[in-house]
This record gives sequence, C-alpha cells and structure tokens, in this order.
Amino acid sequence: MTSLAYSSPVFAPPLRPAVPRNLCTDCGLSRSATPKLCGQACQFIQPDYPALEARVHGRVREPARGDERFFGPYRQMFRASLKSPRPGAQWSGITTRLAERLLETGAVDAVLTMAPDPDDKWRPVPVLVTKPEGMAQARGMRMGYAPLLALLEPARDAGYKKLAIIGIPCQVYALRAIETELGLERLYVIGTPCSDNTTTENFHHFLSLLSDTPERINYLEFLPDYHVELRFTDGSRQRIPFLKLPISQLAPDFFPLTCRTCVDYTNALSDITVGYMAGQGAQWLLVRNERGEELLGLLGDEITLAAPASAGKRAGAVRGFMANTRLAAGGLPLRRMPGFMRGIVGWLMPRIGPRGLEFARARVEMKAVETILHLRRMARPRMKTMVPDHVWQLVAPYGLVSEDGERKTH
Ligand SMILES: Cc1cc2nc3c(=O)[nH]c(=O)nc-3n(C[C@H](O)[C@H](O)[C@H](O)COP(=O)(O)OP(=O)(O)OC[C@H]3O[C@@H](n4cnc5c(N)ncnc54)[C@H](O)[C@@H]3O)c2cc1C
Ligand code: SF4
Ligand code: SF4
Repeated sequence: MTSLAYSSPVFAPPLRPAVPRNLCTDCGLSRSATPKLCGQACQFIQPDYPALEARVHGRVREPARGDERFFGPYRQMFRASLKSPRPGAQWSGITTRLAERLLETGAVDAVLTMAPDPDDKWRPVPVLVTKPEGMAQARGMRMGYAPLLALLEPARDAGYKKLAIIGIPCQVYALRAIETELGLERLYVIGTPCSDNTTTENFHHFLSLLSDTPERINYLEFLPDYHVELRFTDGSRQRIPFLKLPISQLAPDFFPLTCRTCVDYTNALSDITVGYMAGQGAQWLLVRNERGEELLGLLGDEITLAAPASAGKRAGAVRGFMANTRLAAGGLPLRRMPGFMRGIVGWLMPRIGPRGLEFARARVEMKAVETILHLRRMARPRMKTMVPDHVWQLVAPYGLVSEDGERKTH
C-alpha cells in the first residue's frame, strides 16, 4: 500500500465537481478523470443487463427459475436478521456488519459507502472506511444522492486493491460497467434495493409535512406492512398508514424522473442484496453468486436465516397502481378516496394485501409499470435504449406493450 493510505478510519476525500447531465443521480462517475465513461456505464443511457449479469454471475436471469424474472439471478434467498441488531442500523444492520467482517478478516483494504453529513444527518456523504470500527458511522438510511463512485480514484491513489462497495442499484450498474478497467485484485459488492429516492432537500420537506418537529425525526422507513415508521430523538415511535401520507401535498416532481423510471429495483448486479421487501418484518437476502455466498459465510452463526413466505394476490394491487399512475398524468399517484375509507383500507391492506414474496413481486411490477408510463410521457425517445427486455416482460401481463419505436428489435 502506498504512503497515501488514509490514517483516519472514516475518510471523506475532496471530490471534483459533477458534470451536469440529464437523467443523472450523480453516482460519481462524472466526477472522475474520465467523465465520458458515463456514456458506456450509465443505467439511464444504454444499459445491458444480460451482458453484465453473465459476466458477474456467470449466467443471465432465467425467467422460469424461481423468482428470477422479478429479482434477477440468485442462488439462495432468505428472511434474515442479525441475532444482535446493531444500534443505528436501518433494520438489523446486516449490510454494515458484512462490510465490518470484510475489514476484520483483512479480505478488503477499504469499504466505499455513505456516512451522514456532520451538518445534516439525512444527507449522504461518500466515505472510505478502512477500519471495522468505522462502519458504525455508516449505519442507517439517508435519502439523497451522493457520488459514491467518485471514491474509486482516491482509493486507487491510496493503493487499495481490495475493495468492498455498498451501493444502490444505479451506482452498482455503473460500477459493474467499468469494473474490469479498475485494476482491482478483489471487489465485493453489497447492494441494497432502492426505490423512490429523492433529493435530501425534498426529503426535508416531506419530513416537515409529517411532523411539527421534523428535526426530532431520526429514522424513517416504508414498512412492508403498508405503514411508514418514524422514530424520534426521544425514543418514541409513530406508525402512519401509507394511505394517510400527505402525498397529495408533494410537488409532482418530488421524485425525480430517474427514480420513477429506474429499471433495477433489487440491485441485480450485486454479489448479495440486503433489503426488506419479502422479509415480513425481518430483512431479505438475495445471495447472487459465489462471492455473495462467501459474504454470507462471514456472518457465521451471528445471523438467523429462514425461507421467505408468500401470501395474498398482487394482480389487483398492481392494476390499481397502474390506473392511479395513469390518472396522475406524470405526477404522483393520488388516491381519490374519502378520508373515512382511507382508514378502513389502511387497516385491511396489511391483512389481505400481498405479503412476503408476493409483496416484493408487486413492488417490482409497480416499478416496471412506472418506468414505462413515465418514460412514455416524459422521455419517449429514451425508451428504446433504456428499457431492458426484463422490464417489458414484467408489465406484459397487465396489457402494457411497446408502441412503435419504443423497443429494440433483435
Ligand atoms: C433511498 C433508499 C431507498 C430504499 N428503498 C428500499 C426498498 O424500497 N425496499 C427495500 O427492500 N430496501 C430499500 N432500501 C434499503 C433499506 O433501506 C436498508 O438499507 C437495507 O434493508 C439494509 O438494512 P441494514 O439494517 O442491513 O442496513 P445498515 O447496516 O443500517 O446499512 C445501511 C447502508 O446503506 C447505506 N446508505 C444509506 N443511505 C444511502 C443512500 N442514500 N445511498 C446509498 N447508500 C446509502 C449506508 O451507508 C449503509 O452502508 C433503500 C435504501 C435507500 C438508501
Ligand atoms: S453514470 Fe452516474 S454520473 Fe454518469 S450520467 Fe449516469 S448517474 Fe450520472
Ligand atoms: S430509485 Fe433507482 S435511480 Fe433512484 S437512487 Fe434509487 S437506484 Fe438510483
């Protein structure tokens, strides 16, 4: 390792400015010495999932195999929890514990991830973590974009050859697209699913609609039982049914077009995906390849694993979502439902709505529906190159088919 190796266990290197681009989540690539790489590496330009799946996992997703048509290639799938949940973690802390283990065992020199901005706990800041004890600072979910891949050059300059990256799907796509050019000896990719991200500024506005004292909120999660959970600095908690969220008070572009149209909800190119959607209150793991198995193995008996369950039927919920998205005409799907009905439906949904795997399938299909409807309305010329076949296959059962010029012909 060179003398540039960082002495602080958590280090936020200075970064170059971003090159402004249309449909961009500032994954960090445009801040590198070769910003033109965006053209070949961006999820929003011309993604090639089959080629990258074949390279990373040794095979493409097989629609007839398990749930691969929804979630991408995987070898094993679990509900999971750390036996000792970590304080400050979003769920039980599996994601950061995996990275901690990689540092503890010397499998990597550094982990590239996000920590909270010292002046705003909700703003993600990309950091290089070089000691296991530094991972605690990264725990928890923050809403917003941060240029994670801009850390690749500082990591290279420090002589780090074995890296782990914790990333959301649009970051992981670009990383995989340039992986072979990085000259690394080893790369572990721990991915989380991601949907409905927005700018940290927008997120602060959302918090101000949820509470008179938004500065006291230190945790927010969209739970798979159709509630948002808020936690406050005094330790109190609040659960709000999705249907009672103040969505109608948000601007139509509250969620940027990128996040309404991104095509990889479950982070199909990670070695292991750590989410919650099919977890029914626990976490949800998709172990995608041999390296993912190695990662899970690092947790030994610290983790409880069980098979995911499934209940309910998703088709009606997905159809309803599609109708609402059409009605909203480019804005956020508004529920035209009287207030008293919202309470009743909000009570019923966790009991009769899709649950477990069926909930995860429903969310993936809804996201695919959004991709088609929003791009068709707002960026139709992009569709031909940006929408992969797997997205068209997900929406086909709902009667959404490509129109002239929207789909590549093979
Ligand atoms: C914007 C966003 C939306 C998400 N939506 C879903 C969803 O719809 N369904 C689902 O199953 N899971 C979703 N997740 C993932 C989920 O919130 C948990 O992070 C995941 O289940 C891991 O929990 P954990 O306790 O293992 O994480 P922890 O051990 O607490 O670690 C969380 C990790 O996420 C990183 N992180 C936090 N914020 C960001 C950010 N803005 N960008 C990049 N990395 C970040 C942290 O640096 C840390 O490394 C989302 C995550 C984000 C950031
Ligand atoms: S590759 Fe990253 S930085 Fe480049 S345009 Fe895409 S999201 Fe933006
Ligand atoms: S929703 Fe998609 S585009 Fe938006 S931040 Fe998440 S992975 Fe990136």
